[in-house]
Amino acid sequence: MNRLRIQSLQVKEYRNIQSAQLDFSSDLQLFIGLNAQGKTNLLESIFLLALGKSHRTRSHRDLIQFGKPFAVVAATIQKPHTTDHVRIVLSEKGKRIEKNGVEQPRLSQYVGTLPAVLFSPEDLELVKGSPRVRRRFLDMEIGQVSPTYIYQLNQYQQLIQQRNRLLKDPVPSESILEVLDQQLVQFSIPIWKRRLLFLNSLKVWAKETYQMIADEKETLEVYYQPSTTQLSQHESAEWEDMLSQEIRQIRTKELRRRTTLIGPHRDDLRLEVAGVDVGAFGSQGQQRTAALALKLAELELIREEIGYYPILLLDDVLSELDDSRRSHLLKKIQGRVQTFVTATSLEGLDAQTVSRAAIYQVAQGK
Ligand code: ATP
Ligand code: MG
Repeated sequence: MNRLRIQSLQVKEYRNIQSAQLDFSSDLQLFIGLNAQGKTNLLESIFLLALGKSHRTRSHRDLIQFGKPFAVVAATIQKPHTTDHVRIVLSEKGKRIEKNGVEQPRLSQYVGTLPAVLFSPEDLELVKGSPRVRRRFLDMEIGQVSPTYIYQLNQYQQLIQQRNRLLKDPVPSESILEVLDQQLVQFSIPIWKRRLLFLNSLKVWAKETYQMIADEKETLEVYYQPSTTQLSQHESAEWEDMLSQEIRQIRTKELRRRTTLIGPHRDDLRLEVAGVDVGAFGSQGQQRTAALALKLAELELIREEIGYYPILLLDDVLSELDDSRRSHLLKKIQGRVQTFVTATSLEGLDAQTVSRAAIYQVAQGK
């Protein structure tokens, strides 16, 4: 079977979930419950297994049940050729990740064990939020399939910190700055290449997905908006020279602003629906659909990369879509992707969807 599936999940003293042991036999799991019962917490625990961190907090301590010393999340994951047992233990001291009984000291090496795509209400920020949100999206998605990219990005980020510190010196050393300029060019280029490659496929799938859900003639276009015009004006073989020149040209400006002004850390994505910036001018439904399309495009991109679909986590998304968009969405994922969905009720779901789903009632963390 050419599929990825979480067979079973154990969650212990994680947020408001005391202890849960779930076996998943269906493709579609619906977690139904009133507000504040633990639905998002459960999805978050699966996301934690996938990415090694929460999508809601940076502090792993927030995830441990109040007053408890540890939280544990574990799962058995069935893949086309292997079965993996993964386990994350959170404590005051830190986070311990195990795969098949072996500790995983490097997150970049662990990530990819459980490929996953999450869509939650906060993802509207992908469309409405600052460029930082969109860069983070790009970086997380590429990172999921490329440990090398995570490494390159870390190196780049350290360089930017170092360079910005230097630019803040009262009299920055010319010679050190020149060395860092060279590194800036060298570190930026592979990141740009990887991002543009990713975007080439992302834009195709996002467009197709948008159209499928919206069922309208309007389309979603995604463009990379770099902080330098060199990328669009020159072939990649010329980037190195052109960038070095540009960095020299903006030297005085950078010294005045005391920060690094060009590089992947200043870039953005532009999202257009029906030819206009959807974040600034789109309707709420268009914005939501655009954010969802970007996330669902990832399903396809990850499949292209690894040969099978990742799991899909949909938090609170169904209630936000109209009937037509909701049924298009469910049709798209049917039978192909193991999906975990939260909702406050089954209302608005068609009988066919309900009949093929495994339905879990979530109340007070149980
Ligand atoms: P909604 O429908 O409103 O989104 P939900 O079922 O998704 O609700 P969750 O976000 O999962 O709700 O949160 C459930 C409860 O978990 C919250 O009321 C919160 O107080 C509680 N909670 C969060 N963190 C912890 C923690 N570390 N320890 C114990 N309880 C926690
Ligand atoms: Mg919730």
